[in-house]
Amino acid sequence: MNLIQLLPFGPAAVETLSELRAGLEREFAVPCEILPPEPEPAFAFNLTRQQFSSTEILAAMLKRNTPAKWRLLGVTPLDLYIPILTFVFGEAQLPGTCAVVSSHRLSQEFYGLPADPKLQHERLLKEAVHELGHTLNISHCEDYQCAMAPSHGVEWIDLKTSRFCGTCRTLVPARSMLNASR
Ligand SMILES: [Zn+2]
Ligand SMILES: [Zn+2]
Repeated sequence: MNLIQLLPFGPAAVETLSELRAGLEREFAVPCEILPPEPEPAFAFNLTRQQFSSTEILAAMLKRNTPAKWRLLGVTPLDLYIPILTFVFGEAQLPGTCAVVSSHRLSQEFYGLPADPKLQHERLLKEAVHELGHTLNISHCEDYQCAMAPSHGVEWIDLKTSRFCGTCRTLVPARSMLNASR
């Protein structure tokens, strides 16, 4: 992996994107750039569920023909789903070049709690690292602190870190870890 591109779908706070970019550059030690935002992906909207299909968003992203060594990460405030689940925080190709993450259920306000932007940024970074990990063909990890631990709710996200455990880290292409000091 030698470049990560962030592709906003729908409105995204500038601060959220720049925090995410900084975090991903730190975790993967590759440059990360923010692309001009796409409009809300109306094509992926499911009228019955009032949610957006992450799979259809991924399919649209694939048409952009991302070079094999790059990663394209969709970022959206919209609520995402796959048919068998109530919602998803994100979805990725396993392996592949594309992944998408949603901040919709990562805010404290979503759960009726006072806003905590820092916590929200941390959660988004963890989920972004997780989905990008899947694109690198890394499966779920049993280490609950590893970024590749599965998350079925924000409590699970808060338990883990944005970092790969020792085992998962060996699966990340070495070049991208050249500058990692941890
Ligand atoms: Zn996963
Ligand atoms: Zn792990």
